[in-house]
Amino acid sequence: MTNLSKDLRETLKESEPLTVLEEVDALHSQKDGTVKYLFRLKDDRVIESVLMKYHYGNSVCISSQVGCRMGCKFCASTIGGKERDLLPSEMLDQIYRIQSLTGERVSHVVVMGTGEPFDNYDNLMRFIRILTDPNGLDLSARNITVSTCGIPDRIRAFAGEGLPITLALSLHAPNNEIRKQLMPVAAKYDLSEVLDAFRYYYNKTGRRLTFEYSLVEGINDEEEHARELSRLIKGLNCHVNLIPVNPIKERNFRQSESKRVQSFKNILEKNRINVTIRREMGADINAACGQLRKSYMDSNTV
Ligand code: SAH
Repeated sequence: MTNLSKDLRETLKESEPLTVLEEVDALHSQKDGTVKYLFRLKDDRVIESVLMKYHYGNSVCISSQVGCRMGCKFCASTIGGKERDLLPSEMLDQIYRIQSLTGERVSHVVVMGTGEPFDNYDNLMRFIRILTDPNGLDLSARNITVSTCGIPDRIRAFAGEGLPITLALSLHAPNNEIRKQLMPVAAKYDLSEVLDAFRYYYNKTGRRLTFEYSLVEGINDEEEHARELSRLIKGLNCHVNLIPVNPIKERNFRQSESKRVQSFKNILEKNRINVTIRREMGADINAACGQLRKSYMDSNTV
């Protein structure tokens, strides 16, 4: 800001640092280079962000809220409820901070950490506009993924923003009955409504859709579920990410056996659906959604 005097600029640099996040902890995976960061906000609350290294570049998974109010049964981030929304600056700062800590550029951003991004819509959009601005990090919208538990009117609004962002839907079930057992949000919005909005997103943006499906033993991992899922999403230009659920100590959900995961995948493939089993990045460092933050909070409360 050359419209401010040099002295004032220097003073501001000292007194108002642009970065507000403070590093509390960083866990480095010995397996794949994933780093999980715990950051403290100005008001002493903590959030987590994850750096993942891929052959195509560095990807950062950011949090969009402190805690979450969506209540998914298998998720550690939702146990204490939502504390507050994150500001656009606090979302950006997770990326800036990780770039300055590693000295490496971040090329991809996934909004898949703690929080429901569409429950903090306006701040999310400001964050994305700054992230993709030539005066900001100038990130291509194509390198951004936003993951949602499925809020139809927000998905439609997002389609109207005119940005080619990849949208991921946390599906986790082949029908609304099973989905309701895992995700309270399914009691509010029927799956057919969510999928209609998802299709609308595809028609508006042309972006291939992503479905996340966490496999939970005995709940959504039967062969019949794979067949039902195939029927549900047949004809959509989409990709399914199978994620063996990451068990959290507060709930007794178990991960499906790898044989089961494989046969689930085979059935989808037979139905000509693009599917991958998500590599469990950083499994040795509590990198599943919200686990590091939760264990930090547990050990810091009396
Ligand atoms: N609220 C958004 C984004 C955050 S959660 C959403 O629901 O998509 C990111 C992804 O991690 C979601 O697909 C979520 O369902 C999944 N997830 C959360 N906890 C998990 C766990 N313990 N094991 C496997 N996947 C989990």
